Amino acid sequence: MDKSWITKAMWSRDYVNGVNNFIEFAGRSQNISGKILCPCKSCINRYFHSMKDVKDHLISRGFFPGYVVWNRHGEEHCIKDAGAQLYPGCKTFSRLSFILKLFRLKCLHSWTARSFDMLLELLVDAFSNGCCCLKVRMK
Ligand SMILES: [Zn+2]
Repeated sequence: MDKSWITKAMWSRDYVNGVNNFIEFAGRSQNISGKILCPCKSCINRYFHSMKDVKDHLISRGFFPGYVVWNRHGEEHCIKDAGAQLYPGCKTFSRLSFILKLFRLKCLHSWTARSFDMLLELLVDAFSNGCCCLKVRMK
């Protein structure tokens, strides 16, 4: 799922369209009162709000950084096979442990988001038959 719009200006058409798509996508994770967790910068997936309020929050505040797999809103493509081998025969890392290790390095050494993206792009290019998880942008 393309999420490049997430880092665009909050008043841009791409961003607003992206938020609309997110709201539609997240509809499947409504609770019994029709509310969803709000991933805006203030709520950080801690509070449930109506779909309309979440949309307003996201348009006015933006997503909280780092929410790249919408696992609290029904997205699970990486999570469900997170325990899978990184590549056939790999005994060292699962897909998840590899991603977490990379992300830990990014944080420990203050890599910029851009440098991290470029590293992931390089890894995807080099191992294009490999881990789908690497295609997720991490901020
Ligand atoms: Zn919010």
